[in-house]
Amino acid sequence: MKFELTILGSGSSVPTSNRNSAAQVLNVLERQFLIDCAEATQHQLRRFHVPYNKINHIFISHLHGDHFFGLMGFLSTLSLQGRRGEMHIYADGRLQEFLQCQMKILHSRFLFPVVFHALGRREETIYEDKVVSVTSFPLKHHYEAPVCGFLFREKERERTILKDMASAWQVPLSFMQYLKQGADYITPEGEIVSNARLTVDPPPSRSYAYMTDTLFRERFAAYVQGVDLLYHEATYSKADGLLAKETYHSTAEQAAILAKLAGAKKLLLGHFSARYTDPSCLLPEAQAIFPDTFICADGDRYEVPAVKRETYFNG
Ligand SMILES: [Zn+2]
Repeated sequence: MKFELTILGSGSSVPTSNRNSAAQVLNVLERQFLIDCAEATQHQLRRFHVPYNKINHIFISHLHGDHFFGLMGFLSTLSLQGRRGEMHIYADGRLQEFLQCQMKILHSRFLFPVVFHALGRREETIYEDKVVSVTSFPLKHHYEAPVCGFLFREKERERTILKDMASAWQVPLSFMQYLKQGADYITPEGEIVSNARLTVDPPPSRSYAYMTDTLFRERFAAYVQGVDLLYHEATYSKADGLLAKETYHSTAEQAAILAKLAGAKKLLLGHFSARYTDPSCLLPEAQAIFPDTFICADGDRYEVPAVKRETYFNG
């Protein structure tokens, strides 16, 4: 029952030798959601053993190169490998025009349907199935079109059947689905066995939010209230706050304030400026406000909500 985040790129606009630009994969019960797709994302997918053929939904926060320049290459590879299933892309509507323009010049086409979903400027549900929903919400960056964050929220799971009890009461297999949904069981003799005797509550639903390039605004916390794991860009340190403001980015301290306002359980910092050789220098200013803060690195895997970290690199 996975709900696991893999960091493919933890750097910002200029990639470094050990930090690629923005991209992540969220695995929700084996649904692989790709979030942003910087240059070389397809290399990172292979490097960190992500089953990229299972990616059917790609969420692009905005059309700055460090968030989508890898898309064309990734889609081309899938086409060359014979993909036939639909690929859904959620992005600024102009991305469709951008990709079509390139394909026209190349006299080429993808061998699978690409379905575009244009993001708006207001909070809205953009994807939903029986186990998870995805909401987009507007952020503030120096960019004319919508810049969106994304909230992935697992739906309430079914109740867990106590097998020994169900067996003791000889509940037929055909009734198990109703038990999971909370129904009482009535025996052939007419005795009512309450659902509480036959099942236990499911584990709490899990959630993950991705807050990409943005100026700090207190009101953005409302979009991600109570989230289990919040990823927030922290391009700059507090000392470089003026630079953050000028470039419409956030500092690590501002990310922590946002996490606190949102009542998030854990905070993950990323999108670090290449000026910081070791971004762990940003950690103290964030932890002073929000202690459960982590600095992410390419290849890290975080299990939600435990936020158990598996690090790709040694040391
Ligand atoms: Zn960026």
